[in-house]
Amino acid sequence: MSDLRIDRVETVLLDVPLRRAHRFARTEMDAQPVLLVFLRTAGGITGVGEGVVPGGPWWGGESVETMQLVIERHMAPIVTGRNVDDMAGILGDITDVVAGNLFAKAAVEVALHDAQARCLDVPVHTLLGGTVRESVPVTWALGTEPAPVVLEEALGKLDAGTHHSFKLKMGAQDPAADVKRVTAIAEKLAGTAGVRVDINGRWDRLTSLTHLPALAEAGVELVEQPVPGDQIETLAEINQTLPIPVMADESLRSPRDALRLSRLGATDVYSLKSTKSGGLRPTQNIAAIAAAADIPCHAGTSIESPVGTAASLHAACAAPAVTWGSELFGPLLMQEEILTTPLHYENGELHLPDGPGLGIDLDPDALRAFARS
Ligand SMILES: [Mg+2]
Repeated sequence: MSDLRIDRVETVLLDVPLRRAHRFARTEMDAQPVLLVFLRTAGGITGVGEGVVPGGPWWGGESVETMQLVIERHMAPIVTGRNVDDMAGILGDITDVVAGNLFAKAAVEVALHDAQARCLDVPVHTLLGGTVRESVPVTWALGTEPAPVVLEEALGKLDAGTHHSFKLKMGAQDPAADVKRVTAIAEKLAGTAGVRVDINGRWDRLTSLTHLPALAEAGVELVEQPVPGDQIETLAEINQTLPIPVMADESLRSPRDALRLSRLGATDVYSLKSTKSGGLRPTQNIAAIAAAADIPCHAGTSIESPVGTAASLHAACAAPAVTWGSELFGPLLMQEEILTTPLHYENGELHLPDGPGLGIDLDPDALRAFARS
């Protein structure tokens, strides 16, 4: 086998233009900032991982700029000179000097997996125990625009056959008006497509208890994170009163969170993200707890480029608990391709790529074109 020693850590910041502006409750983006982390071994192998958050630090406090600084200044010195198969040792040493920063850790952790898998000439999912599925269904995320705008986009996707379910972002406006908007959309799509909503923790307890029942009545099939991440007792109360499933996202970062949520019966579905949890192994550990607690999982996104999307796909295909599909649509939202061969989306599903590591190859011209100067 080639020399496994990591002799260089490099980072590149990209701004990848989107097909349309993507709106969240309090922010909007027309390009997604992406940090790529490259681990280069003495044997000539390169592993890549992606640091990414949806647009900026509003979701979890990190941004691509903080990730680049923390990785270059505090993680690279730990990683450099170590062997790529010393994964548990490297990650343990990183955690000793860097608390939190799970999105930054995920970028390095995924790059370690990609590098090790490439050294062994196997796909990343082999390192995770192999696959239980070869593809996952992909829901499409709709923004916070008015009902007619959102409906037109949804009907276009249904006609094209590219997606069969939709996730609507809520929380940008007055709750009663927002419920009216979503109810109109859900009623129009009833019987033809599944509609889920993500409130990104913008509502409080009373707003949730007041307005969520109307969404359930309108045919919304799932509510994601109505209240802030740390309010898991409230999440449990809402889950007990609501006839449709509640999904945890901001409340679920670590395996310990997964255990706590399951003890409280706080949510019926878990949203897994290799980004928010520090990488593929912690995500796999969360999925194992979910399986033991009989809680199905959904493969969530931080709007990753094809690099992070491929990583999340390997994790989703290796975890038996991921029976609630995915929202791994990041590359579809991007206007430009950064791989030589795009990821394979077909009939509403994203299919695992072949080949060693993550199974992807970056296009050097695209990296130059979108690199932040
Ligand atoms: Mg979410």
